[in-house]
Amino acid sequence: VTRTAPSSIAENRHAVLDRIATAARAAERKADDIALVAVSKQQPQEKIDAMLATGQRVFGENRVQEAMGRWDEGRRQGVELRLIGPLQSNKAREAVALFDVIETVDREKLAAVLAEEMARSGRIVRLYVQVNTGEEPQKAGVSPGEADGFIATCRERYGLAIEGLMCIPPEAEPAGLHFALLRKIAERNGAAKLSMGMSGDYETAVRFGATSVRVGTALFGAR
Ligand SMILES: *Cc1c(COP(=O)(O)O)cnc(C)c1O
Repeated sequence: VTRTAPSSIAENRHAVLDRIATAARAAERKADDIALVAVSKQQPQEKIDAMLATGQRVFGENRVQEAMGRWDEGRRQGVELRLIGPLQSNKAREAVALFDVIETVDREKLAAVLAEEMARSGRIVRLYVQVNTGEEPQKAGVSPGEADGFIATCRERYGLAIEGLMCIPPEAEPAGLHFALLRKIAERNGAAKLSMGMSGDYETAVRFGATSVRVGTALFGAR
């Protein structure tokens, strides 16, 4: 049995949940306060179905089109789907129809279109603001310096309830610094949720207060 075979999916999930629980205990937190988001992007359907069979119910996707093809009505039953990749305004309608959570709100145009689309459809999607904590030019997200103003704009001008913040730290830097920064921004803006931590650093993220971790490779194997 290889680490990536469908039969090992349950073992992988068990191991990740175990590590989350251990990290939570060390930080004097409750493991139940940390949601495991299984990042299913680019994974074969058989592995995703194996993951569903384990009881995993929260999944992350980074592309609207790909997610639409994969998560038909049947598969979506009882599943919480999160968009963790960049969203173009012209895909907002599809995104609001498909996702329960959008974690990548990062510009006013998108905030406006999401507000409009939620009003039109009557569907409420939970929203996170993505912060580019490392200020990397190639990465999406508002810069840390713009975050307070942007969150206020989302709330006051567009009536959006910003539930939390999300970040993807630079690969070459200690993730903890970025997690701490995201937490500080969230605290001063009254954003309760923190989406941070991936396969390589989710235990660190738990120590720094993550309320959800986005794990792909460690659950499904390489993409
Ligand atoms: C792909 C992806 C992940 C998962 O990454 P792994 O290293 O495979 O765990 C998490 N967050 C975002 C935003 C991603 O695009």
